[in-house]
Amino acid sequence: MLDPSEAAAIAFEPVERCPLCGSHDRVLFERESLPPQQIHLVRCSQCDFIYTSAVVAAGHVARFYNGYNVARDAAHGELRRKRALMYKLDAAYARRFLHPSGTRILDVGSGTGEFAAQFLDRCEVHAIELDDAARAACAQAYPTLRLYSGLDDIPHAAAFDAILFRGTLQYMPDLRNVANWCCACLRAGGYLFVLATPNAESILAQLQREHWMLANKVEHRYWFTRRHLMRLFGSRFALVAYDLPYLGTPYENYSDDVCKVVAMIESGAARGERVPFFGSMMNVVLRKKMMRAGATDAVAC
Ligand SMILES: [Zn+2]
Repeated sequence: MLDPSEAAAIAFEPVERCPLCGSHDRVLFERESLPPQQIHLVRCSQCDFIYTSAVVAAGHVARFYNGYNVARDAAHGELRRKRALMYKLDAAYARRFLHPSGTRILDVGSGTGEFAAQFLDRCEVHAIELDDAARAACAQAYPTLRLYSGLDDIPHAAAFDAILFRGTLQYMPDLRNVANWCCACLRAGGYLFVLATPNAESILAQLQREHWMLANKVEHRYWFTRRHLMRLFGSRFALVAYDLPYLGTPYENYSDDVCKVVAMIESGAARGERVPFFGSMMNVVLRKKMMRAGATDAVAC
């Protein structure tokens, strides 16, 4: 969360329409307005998508994220250790769907490359990272990883067997463009992974709202559900897996956490607690459908 002086230095621009369905109609989702005051959490009246009413201005996004990854890890050593464990768990999860060798994958929003590097032993790994400092660190640590600063920098002929967003899709400025790009650049039968992503239909998202530990109004522009992801990527994709990682992760502390969640349900005064819990994070795996020869409709593969 930004402090007020940091927020004052950032330019925001309003979001007038639902980024998913385009509707102007919306209601406030937050119960309380937290800083920065220029941004509110709203819910679309047409499709129930939750999004922010303002975002970092287009011309300021690169500057805002420059140095973001390095600063994040320096400030939270323990979180870094847990995140490193999650990279291994999430990579193992993704590998269940991938051909064991010769696979070309793309990690979107790779940070300093630790997650993408999990696949370097058997895959041709490409990665996108906007943050210049993170990209430089990644290039030094993993010289065989093919790095880009944005979708537009990738050679148009590159067709991927898998595209992965690990906790990054909610940061993307233009969702429609990202979805269209993925559909164009993923081969038929290829996998689209949306991993370690905040789940808007989790009990804590709905109960705590703006106080949810994954609520971050400046960085997280959208609160996805499985249903909204399927709508975003469209009928060319089929849902093949949906999981809610918590038990067995480094964040699990079920006996304590369940007591805190019960306290939140019983008393609004307890709803400021920051608790990892079942359902808050989701892994969604979609697969691009095959096209039957001569047919105009895709078929599930
Ligand atoms: Zn909508």
